[in-house]
Amino acid sequence: MAKHIQPRDPPPAAAQTLLALFHAQGEVARLSEREQLFSSLLETVNAVLWAFDWKTRQVLYVSPAFERIFGRQVSRVLADFNEWRDSIYPDDLEYAERSLAQVLLQGAVEDREYRIINAAGEIRWLSDKCYINQQQDGDRVIVVGIAEDITEKKQLEGELQRLATTDVLTQSSNRRHFFECANQAFTAAREDGTPLSFLLLDIDDFKLINDTYGHQQGDQVLQHIADSGKAVLRRGDVFGRIGGEEFAAVFPGCEAEVAEQIAERLQREIQRLSFSHGQERFGVTISQGLTSLRDDDLSLDSLFARADAAMYQAKRMGKNQIICG
Ligand code: GH3
Ligand code: MG
Ligand code: MG
Repeated sequence: MAKHIQPRDPPPAAAQTLLALFHAQGEVARLSEREQLFSSLLETVNAVLWAFDWKTRQVLYVSPAFERIFGRQVSRVLADFNEWRDSIYPDDLEYAERSLAQVLLQGAVEDREYRIINAAGEIRWLSDKCYINQQQDGDRVIVVGIAEDITEKKQLEGELQRLATTDVLTQSSNRRHFFECANQAFTAAREDGTPLSFLLLDIDDFKLINDTYGHQQGDQVLQHIADSGKAVLRRGDVFGRIGGEEFAAVFPGCEAEVAEQIAERLQREIQRLSFSHGQERFGVTISQGLTSLRDDDLSLDSLFARADAAMYQAKRMGKNQIICG
């Protein structure tokens, strides 16, 4: 009589092998599915995963996104680390190397950001986090990392920063940004014992321009005056629109006489502007108040107050002139 197999009885050897095989196949299928998922993930993310042997300076692994972000072949960077190093934007190279070396002391460096120039000559921003690999292999030091392409994020940040600091109509610094920069310049001048001059500029009879030629025409006058200001300023000078028809400038490192020459040049530039409204042509003048840093100035406010008083004196004395206070 055939032996009745109890459910609890162990399966015969052949059945065991078969079961093991099915199990292994299932495992293989699961593994290969996982591997496919993993490699499609690695290809999709906008980041390069990498591993680097610190002592031999050899790249052990880079994920496929390297080819997309760097525009260079994976095989080449595996053969020579300089494929990566030489892509780094020259100004950022020293920082990139120094911050990478910090991983040896800290175990992790997560706030590294630098630029690369890819094979197409485009600048890309990377956030390149790195970690010491915990599973040490003998005395090898393996550093692993993830270099994310954050170019779009950087561009957005730059655009937001521009919007937050720029006056929309004249594209010059807005009041808040102007005073931020002006205060920094004041502090630096105090610390270094260098001169600094401060200028206020107000358009004469601007209300009349608006009333006569319209608000839009008034806007154009504001734009041209801002352009003249930007054209006359030197590198490092700070210029901004601090009110409706008021502009201000700070000249770091600039003695009173030089500041006066700049103000005079600006006065002439603006007098030379000519606007047309239908058949009519008209010009515009400005009043300026100018002052320079004194030993007893404790904050930028004192310079601002003196320049403001000087500017109002210019108005009282008939406008279209510069008064030094
Ligand atoms: P003063 O010579 O004494 O400076 O006289 P003013 O007419 O220039 O000065 P007031 O302060 O009386 O007028 C300033 C005018 O600037 C009033 C306001 O309508 C105008 N204004 C302020 N912002 C803007 C702007 O963005 N566009 C235009 N078109 N006008 C503006
Ligand atoms: Mg005004
Ligand atoms: Mg005015």
